[in-house]
Amino acid sequence: MDYNGSGVSVLSLPHRGKDFDNILAESKQLVRELCGLNNDYEILWMHGGGRLQFAMIPMNFLGEGDTAGYIDSGAWAADAIKHAEYYGKVQVLCSSKQDNYQHLPEWPENISPELAYLHMTTNNTIYGTQWQDVPPATVPVVADMSSDIFSKKINYTNCSVFYAVAQKNIGPAGTTLVVLRKDMLQRAKRSLPPMMSYAEHVAKNSVLNTPPVFAIYVSMLMLRWIKAKGIAAIEEENKIKAGLLYDEVARNSLFSSTVKKEHRSLMNVCFNAVDDKTEKLFLDFCEECGIVNIKGHRSTGGFRASIYNAVTVEDVKYVVAAMQEFELNNKQ
Ligand code: PMP
Repeated sequence: MDYNGSGVSVLSLPHRGKDFDNILAESKQLVRELCGLNNDYEILWMHGGGRLQFAMIPMNFLGEGDTAGYIDSGAWAADAIKHAEYYGKVQVLCSSKQDNYQHLPEWPENISPELAYLHMTTNNTIYGTQWQDVPPATVPVVADMSSDIFSKKINYTNCSVFYAVAQKNIGPAGTTLVVLRKDMLQRAKRSLPPMMSYAEHVAKNSVLNTPPVFAIYVSMLMLRWIKAKGIAAIEEENKIKAGLLYDEVARNSLFSSTVKKEHRSLMNVCFNAVDDKTEKLFLDFCEECGIVNIKGHRSTGGFRASIYNAVTVEDVKYVVAAMQEFELNNKQ
C-alpha cells in the first residue's frame, strides 16, 4: 500500500514517474544479465501476448516481396506462419504437421541467405517437444521462447530477436518480453502506426502508452528470484523434475510417452493412457488428489504436466506418487 515510501501502492504508481522508471530499469537489467546480452540489444516489455509478436515480426521485418523462413514445429509456430502471410511470402523450412507435431522436424540444411529471417519456436508447449538450443544461422533468427525462457542455459545471442509471453516462466499474463538486436531496427520494412513499430517502442523505452505496470513489477520480482536461484540450478532442477515424470511414464503400465527421447521438453511432459477409460479415470483421480490442469491440450488429448520454473521437485514427486497409486488400484 506504500510502494517505496511513495504513499501509494504499486498499482497506483504513475507510469512516467521515478518509481516505475526504476522498476523498468531493474527488470531490463536483470534480463540483460540473465541472457548475457551486451548493449547491442534492446529490451522491451509489450502488451498483446505472443500473438501480437506473431504479427509484429513480419509487419516490421518482412517486406511485401520478401520471403521469411519458418520452422513449423507446432500449432503456435503454424499460427506465426499464418500471421506472416498477411505481409510477405513464407517458406516453410521444415514441418512435422503430418504427424500432428509429435516430434521435431529435421532442422533444414540449406537455408537461403536471402531470407528476411528464420522464425522458430524453441519449446512446443502443446506437444512437449523442445529444441536443444538456438542454432547459429546466416540469416537473423527470431525465436518464440514463450514456454522455455529462463528454464535452462540458452544461447540467446544466436537470436536477432526473441520474445516470450510472461505467463509461463516470467510472471503474470499481461506483458511480453521482447529482445531485439539494435541492427534489426534498421530493417523496418514499412511505415507503421507507432504501437506496431519496434523502433517507436524502443525510442519510448517501453512507455509509448500506459504499460502493464503491475505485470512488469511482478515480472521484476520473478527475475530477482531467477537470478538469486541461478539459471544453472534452475536447469538442474528442471531436469530432475522432467526426469522423474518421464521415468514414471516409462515404468507405469497404464501410461506411455508421446515424444521421442531426444525431442522431449523439460517444461511440458506429455503422455497418454493405455485407453480412453483409463484416461478418464486418471483425470478423475487427479481431481480427487488436487492435481489440476493435467489434461492435455484439446488437439492432442492425453495428459500434459506443465512444470514451469515455479513448480517444485516436491510437486512433481506428488504427481509421480499419484500415478503409482493409480496403477496399483487400476492394473489390468
Ligand atoms: N507461443 C507459445 C510457444 C505459446 O505457448 C503460446 C501460448 N501458450 C503463445 C505463443 C501464445 O501466447 P498468447 O496467448 O499470449 O498470444
